[in-house]
Amino acid sequence: MTKNSNNVSIPAKILEPVRKFLEEELKKLNQTKKSIDNADPFKDEERDNENSLEDDVDEQIGHLDTEVKSKFLQKQIIQFRKALTRLKVGKYGVCEECGKMIDTDRLAVRPETTLCIDCAKDKE
Ligand SMILES: [Zn+2]
Repeated sequence: MTKNSNNVSIPAKILEPVRKFLEEELKKLNQTKKSIDNADPFKDEERDNENSLEDDVDEQIGHLDTEVKSKFLQKQIIQFRKALTRLKVGKYGVCEECGKMIDTDRLAVRPETTLCIDCAKDKE
């Protein structure tokens, strides 16, 4: 085992734009989530409780829809935060499950990933 075996081989000049990308995307995700959460009809305090059955159904559907989108975005946000944290501690590009380097092609497509393709398959 060499002294440098645990060092991430991704150079800083490549990591810097990745960090910027992740931060930008995270900002966008947070904004999108906020606007989706605000669109939830259940959040509407002026909501008429005497409305018709059709309106109630519409609201239920609207609520479920926003809930699904919001949950999906929340997962994305966590994933991006995780990738950023790993970047900051110098573990970016290293699989959090097995510790192997993540394929750079995979990172190019999904820069927020923290799992190598094999470990991601096991989880899906
Ligand atoms: Zn792995």
